[in-house]
Amino acid sequence: MAVTVDSGGTGHWRELCPGVLVRRYAELDLTVGLVLGDERALVIDTRGDRRQGAELAEAVRGLTRLPTQVVLTHAHFDHCFGTTAFTPVPVWSHVDFTAHLTATAELQREAWTRHYRAVGEAETAAALAETALEFPDRSVDEPVLLDLGGRTVRLFHPGPGHTDHDLVVRVEDAAVSFVGDLLENGACPDFEDAHPLRWPDSLEQVLGHSDELFVPGHGDPMSPEQAARQHTELRSLAELCAGVSRGELGEREAVARGPYPEETVRAALSRVGGG
Ligand SMILES: [Zn+2]
Repeated sequence: MAVTVDSGGTGHWRELCPGVLVRRYAELDLTVGLVLGDERALVIDTRGDRRQGAELAEAVRGLTRLPTQVVLTHAHFDHCFGTTAFTPVPVWSHVDFTAHLTATAELQREAWTRHYRAVGEAETAAALAETALEFPDRSVDEPVLLDLGGRTVRLFHPGPGHTDHDLVVRVEDAAVSFVGDLLENGACPDFEDAHPLRWPDSLEQVLGHSDELFVPGHGDPMSPEQAARQHTELRSLAELCAGVSRGELGEREAVARGPYPEETVRAALSRVGGG
């Protein structure tokens, strides 16, 4: 099914299989999810500010009146600042989510408010500036099975990767995994808070489930082949980073051999203290 994404603030649903949907946005090419059980609905990520969250909450209400819960894949603003539009409902995240959000929320808000002002998106900047933070009330350390009624989803942390607290949402009966920014489709992986040396092993835990579809935090759902290709790239970048940190390889050579553009390779190198 083709996905249409408009240029404004609203998105479009796409049903991957019965009761498992993604909603796609032009804004940051973001992808959020919705899983429907017989008794409960689960929203995966809440968009980047109060106004965007309200748009998503309204879109969810247009599809279902089931009691809703929320799960946040990680504490980057574009995935979680919209949570305030959903509460009070149970909000799940990894046990280290809150520490990361507490430490970085105002820096994220400042950087992205500046960005939106610079690109002439004053309304988005204003909405982000005034968004109140909402902290999750359900922590995931060991894997959690969430019963949505006739359907179970597994919440688990595969290990450090895109952040130290990525949470994967696997819809067990549908073989679909929502992986947050552990995968990106159509853009390079983001290393700002990443653990480049461990990311490949963590992603392997996710890909090992032989799922049919992997839903990234940005871009269209990915086939196992697409996901495996990104895993190979992350592995080769990890090896280059390890080589630099051991002093066996210069940064310039790592950049030249890297699977991604210079900026991305350098961002990964900076996270392992190489060079
Ligand atoms: Zn992210």
